[in-house]
Amino acid sequence: MMNNRHLFKFLCFASLAAPLLAQSANVQEQMTESPAVKAAVEELVLANHILYDQNAVDGYGHISIRNPNNPNAFFLARSVAPSVVTVADIMEFDMNGKALHGDTRTAYGERFIHSGILRNRPDINSVIHGHAAPILPYGMTGSTLKPVYHMSAFLGEGAPIFEIRNFAKPNIDTDMFVSNNDLGDALSKTMGLQYFVLMRGHGYAAGADSIKKVVFRSIYAIQNASIQSEAMKMGNVQYLTPGEATASQETIEKTIGRPWQLWSERVKKP
Ligand SMILES: [Zn+2]
Repeated sequence: MMNNRHLFKFLCFASLAAPLLAQSANVQEQMTESPAVKAAVEELVLANHILYDQNAVDGYGHISIRNPNNPNAFFLARSVAPSVVTVADIMEFDMNGKALHGDTRTAYGERFIHSGILRNRPDINSVIHGHAAPILPYGMTGSTLKPVYHMSAFLGEGAPIFEIRNFAKPNIDTDMFVSNNDLGDALSKTMGLQYFVLMRGHGYAAGADSIKKVVFRSIYAIQNASIQSEAMKMGNVQYLTPGEATASQETIEKTIGRPWQLWSERVKKP
């Protein structure tokens, strides 16, 4: 016979147990049970291929998506090159970058970029990290990456720069990798409320509320860097004003389905 105290404990456990059991399903099982998870994982795989096809990543670089059924977990491929990612490669992680479901496959060492931003920014659901060459000079020269045209208006008043030296132990050189939760938090703090952060001597991280939007932002941030570098050689650059950036971001980001369709067609298998 259960007394009231035991009954209370049982009810508390039972109410916690249901969501915990649901979350114990691995990625493949969740895809079978949930159309939202299936769509998210399949779009994540497609995004990996698009990013490679558009020269936004090479053998390195990665993209994540928050689990649509669990805000405290996200999907990210195991440690393979983006162009060869398949559904079977997708792993699930908690907000500390720990692999779920007892998955022991090798994960990206820099998954803490994703967990750090997703943990601190509930408005961001998808994160990209890459090392595209046109972006890199802006992390190391003091020249600010700013929107030179409407396509990259989300850069706003300029991309902040994450300086890993500021978070290293005194007199210790880091390997430049955001490889733990403290560095993930520091990177996210440097990003602040923006959607893009440069990493000095390394690359960048971008965020958005959807996979399509973060892919759009990464590709056009890289194009912006190339255009800005060319323009700076020719003279004084006229950047978008903060008002122009806000207005054009609102307009252009309503149309991201158009390039997404083009990029998707290019990477579809025959
Ligand atoms: Zn990296």
